[in-house]
Amino acid sequence: MNFEIIIIGAGISGASFANKIVKFAKTLLLDAQDISQRPLSTNIFPFHNKPYIEETEWANVEIFPTYHVKTNYMGSKFDGIVNSEEFGRPLGKVVYLEKLLNRMIQKFEDQGGVFKDKQKVKKINKYSDHLEVITNNGQTFSCKLLVFATGSRALDLQRSMGFDTPDEYVGIYCHFHGDEDKLNENMDANYLFHINPKISRNGPLFINKGKERLSIGFLGDNQPIQELGLKLNNILNSYKKIQPFIKGLTRDPKSIVAKISKHPIKTFSHDRMLILGEAAGLVTAFFYEGILCGIISAEIASNTIKSLMEINNDFNQLSLRQYDNEINRVFGNYFKNGKGSEYIFYHSGSNMELIWDTYIKVVRKDKKLRKYIWEAYQIENIEALANYDISRDRYAGERMLANLPFLSKISLVPLFLKARFIL
Ligand SMILES: Cc1cc2nc3c(=O)[nH]c(=O)nc-3n(C[C@H](O)[C@H](O)[C@H](O)COP(=O)(O)OP(=O)(O)OC[C@H]3O[C@@H](n4cnc5c(N)ncnc54)[C@H](O)[C@@H]3O)c2cc1C
Repeated sequence: MNFEIIIIGAGISGASFANKIVKFAKTLLLDAQDISQRPLSTNIFPFHNKPYIEETEWANVEIFPTYHVKTNYMGSKFDGIVNSEEFGRPLGKVVYLEKLLNRMIQKFEDQGGVFKDKQKVKKINKYSDHLEVITNNGQTFSCKLLVFATGSRALDLQRSMGFDTPDEYVGIYCHFHGDEDKLNENMDANYLFHINPKISRNGPLFINKGKERLSIGFLGDNQPIQELGLKLNNILNSYKKIQPFIKGLTRDPKSIVAKISKHPIKTFSHDRMLILGEAAGLVTAFFYEGILCGIISAEIASNTIKSLMEINNDFNQLSLRQYDNEINRVFGNYFKNGKGSEYIFYHSGSNMELIWDTYIKVVRKDKKLRKYIWEAYQIENIEALANYDISRDRYAGERMLANLPFLSKISLVPLFLKARFIL
C-alpha cells in the first residue's frame, strides 16, 4: 500500500505528528504494540505542554484527572515544597497518558488516517524516490517520507538507516490504587521527585499522583533489567520515607520496565526521513521530561513538512535541515539547563546527597527560586521556550553554593564552576 507519509511509533511524538499532518497527506501510523494492552501511565503534564494539545482533551477529566498543584522535591531530611497557590495558578495537570494516546489515535483515524498496531517494523528499504517498510508479519508499505517516533525501542532500526542513537538508561515503575480521599490523605503533592544515590545515581525516584491511582518508580539506573524489579520491591517494602505515601493502597502486581534515552543526537533528518522525540534523545537530562519534547518536535516537523509539500519538495536532506535547525534553536537553552543540572546533581559522586539536600534548603527558603520553578512550568509558547533564560539556573547554582557547609563549599567550587560553564 502506498502512502505519502509513514510514521513508525504511536507514542506521544508519533501520535501528535500524525494528528497534525493527516489533514495534508495520506498518512499511515504503525505501532509494534497491541494498543489495547498499553500499560497505565500516570505522568506530569506542565502548562508548558498545553498549547500543543486540543482544548477538548485538556478539559477531559478521564484523560487529565486532576490539576498539578504541588511538587515535593524530597530531601533526606526535609521536603522542598513548591506550592503553586503561592503564585496563583497550578503547575499543570496530571495525565493518564495511555488514555490521551487512545484519544489521539481515534482522532487521527476520524480524519482519514490509517492506523495499524501489532506491526513491528523490521526492515526498511530505501530507493531514490520512495521508501519501503516491512513489518514482522510480512506486510509491506511504501511512502515518500518516513518518520521515526520509536522512542528507545528501535535503536537498531534507526542505526540501520544512518541515524545516531542517544544514551540509553532504564527505569521501572508500578501503580498503586485507592480512593481519592485516601490518596490525598497520604500525600498532598501531586509530584514527588527525590534523589538518593542508593536508588539511582543517574535519576530520581518519583511519585506521580492522579485521582485514584499513583505511579511510583525510579529512573536512570544502569542495573541489569532483572535486578530492577527486586530493587523496586525493596524500596516499596523497606524505604521508610515513602511508606506513608503508599500506606493502605493496593499495589498493581505488574511493574513496568522502560528504557529511557537522553542526550540529543546530532542529526535529526536524512533524505526522506525524520526522527522525533525520545528516539532523537529529546528528553531533559535531569528531570527525564519527554512529553514536551515529543509534542514540540511533532509541531516543528509538521510545520516543516507542510511548507515543503506546498512547493512539491521531494523531502531531500537539504530541505529537511529546516527541521534540525528549528529543533536546535527551540531546545538549545532548555537543554543547557538540563545538562547543567545533570552535571551538578548526577556527576557529584559522593556529594550527591549533600548537593540535593542543599538544593532542598534553598527551595525552602528562597521564594525567588520557587517562583522561577513555577514560571518554568508556565512557558506557553515555542518562542518563550527558545528564549528560556538560563541566568535563572545560574542563580539556583549560586544560591546552592552559598548554602553549602564551609568545607564542602571549598571542595565543590570546581564542580559549580564547570556547571556554570555548561550553562
Ligand atoms: C517511568 C517513566 C516516567 C516518565 N514520566 C514522565 C513525565 O511524568 N512527564 C514527562 O514529560 N515525561 C515523562 N517520561 C518520559 C516520556 O514519557 C517519554 O520520553 C515520552 O513519552 C516518549 O515519547 P515517544 O513518543 O518519543 O516514544 P514512546 O512513548 O516510547 O513511543 C514509541 C512507540 O514506538 C513504537 N515502536 C518502537 N519500535 C517500533 C517498531 N520497530 N515498529 C513499530 N512500532 C515501534 C513503540 O511500541 C511505542 O509505542 C517518563 C518516562 C518513563 C520511562
